[in-house]
Amino acid sequence: MRVEEIVPQYYDSNIYVINQKIVIDTGMTTDYVLHHMEQIMPIENIELIILTHAHYDHSGCAGELLKRSGAKLAIHEADAPFLNDDYLSSALNFGSKIACPPADILYRGGEKIPIGFNENGEEEYLEVIHTPGHTVGCICLYEKNSKTLFSGDTVFSDGGIGRSDFKISAPEKMTSSISKLRELDIENLCPGHGHTTLGNANRSIELSEMMSSRMNP
Ligand SMILES: [Zn+2]
Ligand SMILES: [Zn+2]
Repeated sequence: MRVEEIVPQYYDSNIYVINQKIVIDTGMTTDYVLHHMEQIMPIENIELIILTHAHYDHSGCAGELLKRSGAKLAIHEADAPFLNDDYLSSALNFGSKIACPPADILYRGGEKIPIGFNENGEEEYLEVIHTPGHTVGCICLYEKNSKTLFSGDTVFSDGGIGRSDFKISAPEKMTSSISKLRELDIENLCPGHGHTTLGNANRSIELSEMMSSRMNP
């Protein structure tokens, strides 16, 4: 799996580009994101945009990228209704209004999204893991060969966890969602904000679980 990261501006989410055709989260500063994405590949090459959840700092540029690429938009079914809600998506908190079309693909958890083949000719995929807490429809995406987890705002590097005090949060589910991640072998953590962890990310998830059980008993 080839991963390129667009380092965000301001409060933008991190943006990850997989194999020059799949985008995980889009940030919200459109001109900046488009400029940096064009350094990676032509925008028209994007086939799929996956949102880890419906918050505007992750979905703000999706509308423009979809318009320019014809890509499909995917999100967990529980967060799909918030995509176009200026209040529940937190767009108003960022002084913006949303212009995101409805999602084309709705996940429920457990899906395997094909992303291409590795150098041994084996098919690689991202597995969708439903991790409610920060929002009811948060997902993480796991790539088994490289043991990489894209964690959105569920967990961050060095034991961080996402806020769970939004109207669309499910604080009572946060710790069990992180415990689900602990069943995976995670080498690399690519979170929705802050720096990535390359190597032994299991330890980071373990710390997040401890933090969550203290904050969301
Ligand atoms: Zn975020
Ligand atoms: Zn969020």
